[in-house]
Amino acid sequence: MENRRPLIAGNWKMFKTCSEAVETTRRLLTLLEKNVDTDVMIAPPFTALAAVANIAKGSLISVGAQNLFWEKEGAYTGEISAPMIASAGCKYVIIGHSERRRYFGDTDQTVNRKIAAAIQNDLIPIFCVGESEKERESKETFSVLDKQVKKGLENFSSNDLKTLVIAYEPVWAIGTGKTATRIQAQEAHAFLRSKLVKCFGNKLAKSIRILYGGSVKPNNISELMAMPDVDGALVGGASLDAETFRKIIDFQT
Ligand code: PEP
Repeated sequence: MENRRPLIAGNWKMFKTCSEAVETTRRLLTLLEKNVDTDVMIAPPFTALAAVANIAKGSLISVGAQNLFWEKEGAYTGEISAPMIASAGCKYVIIGHSERRRYFGDTDQTVNRKIAAAIQNDLIPIFCVGESEKERESKETFSVLDKQVKKGLENFSSNDLKTLVIAYEPVWAIGTGKTATRIQAQEAHAFLRSKLVKCFGNKLAKSIRILYGGSVKPNNISELMAMPDVDGALVGGASLDAETFRKIIDFQT
């Protein structure tokens, strides 16, 4: 994994009220006292961001949002901007999750604008890419990843992308219990890194963390993390329970 610091990120999706999110965070804080080798992020719903960030302040846990809208402010009912997310105490923001692409119309172009807004506001973007089951079956995995990265990162310089995190999340593995094998994950991650080398040079490509996401559980995290280009995980379902998430954070390779 070279010198990339592992990142285990929890995406809580549309689960947990504010008080439930605070309770889970408190529990996680007590469980994580000794963990120092891995970066940890949790992404609660917008309504709990400030409360969770407040209790996680100064701890090992960073907080992230699950989405943003690229404008700073304005008549955009229901949307949340990058400055609002930053001011709630967030360090990260998940962008282009397949559920956003599938249900809420996110495209490679809107994802590109969202990444730009995140960077301008010093938020670390976790940029999600991944192929559907049909695309994998028709051997289009690499061409899909190629297009998503090309369009999603269009017009950025390597300086802009210093903090970027990519999450490879095969759509067929999200919330389905089907995990990519460690070989499939490594192949996709290596492909993504080679694409980054071509677009932004070796130095940046070697420093960008590429997370795997898709039914990560305590019993499969270690084998995934043992792969050279897997630098962490984006965890959905298994991040909702503090004890289970702690087991993932404490992976051993
Ligand atoms: C996700 O939400 O990004 C995810 C990977 O979900 P799950 O771990 O539940 O498959």
